[in-house]
Amino acid sequence: KTIKDAIEYNLLRMNLAKAYFFDMDGVLFDSMPRHAIAWEEVMKQHGLPFTAYDCYINEGRTGESVIREAFQKALGRDATQEEVKTIYAEKSAYYHQLLQTTTPTIPGVADVLQFVKEQGHQIWVVTGSGMRTLLDSLNEVFPSIFQQDQMITAFDVTQGKPHPEPYLKAWERSGLPKEQCLVIENAPLGVRSGKAAGLTVYAVNTGILKREDLLQAGADMVFDSMHELLQFLQQH
Ligand code: CA
Repeated sequence: KTIKDAIEYNLLRMNLAKAYFFDMDGVLFDSMPRHAIAWEEVMKQHGLPFTAYDCYINEGRTGESVIREAFQKALGRDATQEEVKTIYAEKSAYYHQLLQTTTPTIPGVADVLQFVKEQGHQIWVVTGSGMRTLLDSLNEVFPSIFQQDQMITAFDVTQGKPHPEPYLKAWERSGLPKEQCLVIENAPLGVRSGKAAGLTVYAVNTGILKREDLLQAGADMVFDSMHELLQFLQQH
């Protein structure tokens, strides 16, 4: 496949898109730096090596599986249920301590949402998050963009990303063919979830990952910022 073919394929996909599935953390809210700080600190306290990059590359996985993998890597054994519970509770508490001010939004995403809305397309939130503080603030932070019945959260699925279930659920409820749905993601596991669901996935690299991390996960296109994505949407 040549670059020209790839661009034509993506233009076709984008022009067809009637429903946009937005991930939340790292796409709408710039919440990842706080998650990274909280994970790094709490893992350190438990003697588990863990970096900000580990946090970004694992984004979207449940806290439990992140903890279990860290135990396997560092100690060569699985974490007990008790350890999982303790560490996850500490991480959540630490994260909430960092929430002295409201979580910032990703620069430029409000303009992307506004543009998609003006085009009359469906706008969905598809997130593995069950963080009420963020979910409940969506309508305040992005007024009249989201609808209650167009959200897939941790409360709607049994299997989180990278499993396709969250995006499959959004697709089913959208009532549209798959070619008319477009996923906007920032994390490799989220990209894999969208691709496993058979959808076109545009990644916006809003964190500290390498472009290759997102391309290897299967992203159809990678943008360096929301501004770049908006320009692409506006030009085509
Ligand atoms: Ca994300």
